[in-house]
Amino acid sequence: MNRYCPFCKGEMEPGKTTFTSETDSGIVVVREVPAMVCTLCGADWIADSVADQLEKIVSSAKQKRIMVEITNWQYPLTTGEGKSFMKDQRESAGSSHISA
Ligand SMILES: [Zn+2]
Repeated sequence: MNRYCPFCKGEMEPGKTTFTSETDSGIVVVREVPAMVCTLCGADWIADSVADQLEKIVSSAKQKRIMVEITNWQYPLTTGEGKSFMKDQRESAGSSHISA
């Protein structure tokens, strides 16, 4: 099942993107986030379930008032196309918290 990009009508494929969010106290970066990526223009789309989890990561960083949170996505997908991402989990054990 392919989805098509609303911008350029290109085909979208499962891929990864980097999510960035600024908070009051700093910035949150989550790498290796599963997303649908347009093969033509590179636009990326994050599933609702993934966006919900990103929201939790951001609010947790806000509560701890972390200035810079850089982490790798390390949650199983619930969207069905995420099996191949599981093998990366061993590499994402180290999430770094830098608070100065
Ligand atoms: Zn596109």
